[in-house]
Amino acid sequence: MNILVVDDNKFIREVVSAMIIDNGHAAIKADGHKQALDELKKDTIDLVLMDIEMPEVNGFELTIMMREEHPQWFPIIFLSSNDSEEYLTKGIDAGADDYLTKPVKQVILSAKIRAMERIANMSGALARANKQLEILSSIDPLTQILNRRGLEEVLANAWQVNERQKGELSILMVDIDFFKPYNDNYGHPQGDKCLKQVSDSLSETLNRSTDSLARYGGEEFIVVLPFTPKDGARFKAKELISSLLRKKIKHEYSSVLPYVTISIGIATKCAADNIVNATELIKNADIALYQAKEQGRNGYQTFITDV
Ligand code: GH3
Ligand code: MG
Ligand code: MG
Ligand code: MG
Repeated sequence: MNILVVDDNKFIREVVSAMIIDNGHAAIKADGHKQALDELKKDTIDLVLMDIEMPEVNGFELTIMMREEHPQWFPIIFLSSNDSEEYLTKGIDAGADDYLTKPVKQVILSAKIRAMERIANMSGALARANKQLEILSSIDPLTQILNRRGLEEVLANAWQVNERQKGELSILMVDIDFFKPYNDNYGHPQGDKCLKQVSDSLSETLNRSTDSLARYGGEEFIVVLPFTPKDGARFKAKELISSLLRKKIKHEYSSVLPYVTISIGIATKCAADNIVNATELIKNADIALYQAKEQGRNGYQTFITDV
């Protein structure tokens, strides 16, 4: 562990640091709040051993500052020559995790370091698990692309960037044609396989790092195309349709072709029109998709605004 020793007394800093090194950890020394806060910014600190009586900013105040500035938790132990109950209570209330009195015995300090290491490890594992959970909760397990929740985040962000830059943001709503008869005839597990194949085909065809693909519902996908005007969106829609067709995924129960095909609805937000939010953009893409279905499927339509 990297252990930060904060004490204005050089002798104590050296003695405590020697004990830390004896325990197989790295000691980082600070003579007051300035050095301590600097070290916290520079290095990953796993534990802080903190003096109380220090000029300018005392240990209570410095603990409060550290807790405010660093949302990620690390243990703080007070090392004080004052053994009053009032100081102990005040220290814990300021955000410390333990309180030891100076001079501290090596065996006690070693035991406390081991206990804090255990807690710090658990806290680290919990933070990693939470991060993983957050990623998982925005991914669709079947297709491994963004789910609806993930889409909402991506789209909200794209919308904001587009508003700031007064650019053009397009979305494509993609729906598999005659997917109900596909499922009914080939069975649901084969339907799931097909969904994965379609999703893979869509994602292979997207090549800009700013583009995103999400599973919007059962057999519906949404493609977010930032910085893309209507013409660009039509070009991409055409590509998505033809690259899937080239895969020749068999579908004998489709009335369009003997292969799996998709229809696409396009909606674009540009500075000239008055679409109010991302939800309205999705609604417009849905209307355009309906028109693409009406026009015979395996094609795309663009939503046309009144202005
Ligand atoms: P259209 O060309 O008009 O889009 O016709 P469609 O049959 O594709 O449209 P509809 O919305 O009626 O059918 C969607 C079907 O998609 C219903 C269901 O059988 C299938 N489906 C939806 N979600 C899933 C899923 O997660 N897995 C599988 N295997 N099938 C799904
Ligand atoms: Mg002191
Ligand atoms: Mg559908
Ligand atoms: Mg469909």
